[in-house]
Amino acid sequence: MLFIRICRLLPPVPVSLARHGVIIRRSMASDPTATETTRFDLLVIGGGSGGLAGARRASELGASTAVIESHKLGGTCVNVGCVPKKVMWNAAVHAEYLHDHSDYGFDVGNVRFSWEALKAKRDAYISHLNRIYRNNLDKAKVQTILGQARFTNDSEPTVEVNGKKYTAPHILIATGGQPTVLSDAEVPGGSLGITSDGFFELETLPKRTVIVGAGYIAVEMAGILSTLGSKTSIVVRQTGVLRNFDSFISTNCTKELQNSGVDMWKNSQVKSVCKTDKGLEVTIVTQDPEKKNDEEKIGTIQEVDCLLWAIGRQPNTSGLNIGQMGVDTDERGHIIVDEFQNTSRPGIYAVGDVCGKALLTPVAIAAGRKLAHRLFEGKKDSKLDYSSIPTVVFSHPPIATVGLTEEEAIKSRGKENVKIYKTSFTPMYHAITSRKSQCIMKLVCEGKEEKVVGLHMQGLGCDEMLQGFAVAIKMGATKADFDKTVAIHPTSSEEFVTMR
Ligand SMILES: Cc1cc2nc3c(=O)[nH]c(=O)nc-3n(C[C@H](O)[C@H](O)[C@H](O)COP(=O)(O)OP(=O)(O)OC[C@H]3O[C@@H](n4cnc5c(N)ncnc54)[C@H](O)[C@@H]3O)c2cc1C
Repeated sequence: MLFIRICRLLPPVPVSLARHGVIIRRSMASDPTATETTRFDLLVIGGGSGGLAGARRASELGASTAVIESHKLGGTCVNVGCVPKKVMWNAAVHAEYLHDHSDYGFDVGNVRFSWEALKAKRDAYISHLNRIYRNNLDKAKVQTILGQARFTNDSEPTVEVNGKKYTAPHILIATGGQPTVLSDAEVPGGSLGITSDGFFELETLPKRTVIVGAGYIAVEMAGILSTLGSKTSIVVRQTGVLRNFDSFISTNCTKELQNSGVDMWKNSQVKSVCKTDKGLEVTIVTQDPEKKNDEEKIGTIQEVDCLLWAIGRQPNTSGLNIGQMGVDTDERGHIIVDEFQNTSRPGIYAVGDVCGKALLTPVAIAAGRKLAHRLFEGKKDSKLDYSSIPTVVFSHPPIATVGLTEEEAIKSRGKENVKIYKTSFTPMYHAITSRKSQCIMKLVCEGKEEKVVGLHMQGLGCDEMLQGFAVAIKMGATKADFDKTVAIHPTSSEEFVTMR
């Protein structure tokens, strides 16, 4: 390994230092301005899902490794993403079930909810996780470097953090992304709103919320806030939410949001925002492009105490100086990688959200680990298969989906080669409740053998239902394999093995 070769050229260093990186003094005698550069086998920029997973696995495989993190270890998922979001979703599920308690014979009297108590517990849990992540890095003998990393202009790829230089033959960029924010120039008063990051800082439950966006983060935040008692409106540019999902899901989720009391502004965009002494005033313009000569309508939502932009995310690449390194990016700043996570510059790799593909924690983790096995275990073919990635939207009820949508299957395989099975029903849980929600399920099958290439569902328990089906689909299960499996009764999931 390169690390060993370098060690041979240098004076002996203590074992602990050797494991944590080697300091190289570069031509100090001839160039008094030269700084010390610490060398590792692998340098990881970004201590989030992908970076931490790749670093720990590389270290397990014997590589001297360092992780550079500018904010909090754990990245988006742990601090402002999956983990605190799921805590909030769990709280919202409690709130939903409270409506059903009397139908199930419980008299729970007056129930009061404290956002403050929930936030305190959630924040304490996240801080606990941050400490665990740090301990895990220490135990794995991965050096943690706190600060903002930036590539220098040195000819050998080198990264500078707090005035110190670090280098490695292998550098992994796993800097993730951040929510898109709107400037006041784009929407006057737009900066009065918050993003999903700000959602996790809210100290109290907003009484009146406006969420802008139609993606999964908008849907999840609208569900949480509305279910916990905030009067919530969602502003979408088209006719519904989750437009990239199977239309069966997109339509049903839009309906469920409305049924649960979320006020939906379709074909709408925020025109301006202004602050009054009663809160924000959000002016919205609505125009249906499908209707010829439809005139613009202007509406206003008043006394808004939380305007949340959920209009997408952008990669953290702008301050890295990667252009100078010959690392290519697309027009939105995502790092372009091949199937092995190689960038256009040999020795520099990227994983996770910064690459802009399948923005999910397990994807970043798996890609980071696969890369470590390729670089430090000689597994030349080690790479992540990006097909059939299962995913859940923590809406109310939750959505779970894997593989091709019906629209995608027809487009790529032709209508005659695609067979659809679908069902919708009221889950048995709701048999005795006055509150109802539907369960919908769809199988997308391909070819004569009816290989299952897509599975989509929304309903109670779907979040925990998907993982097993995703294994079957990854293994190439056909509709006949589903049918051969004996049902579990009485559950919702049994519908998948009894569809006709
Ligand atoms: C609200 C929300 C909910 C989500 N829910 C889910 C979910 O339920 N399930 C799921 O699978 N995914 C979810 N995600 C997506 C998931 O969080 C991301 O896909 C995942 O965190 C990506 O990991 P990553 O390693 O690519 O980047 P990140 O986790 O974002 O980590 C990148 C790290 O790099 C650091 N960094 C950036 N620039 C520098 C620099 N120059 N120097 C040093 N450090 C730097 C950042 O501080 C950050 O800690 C959610 C995201 C959001 C926003």
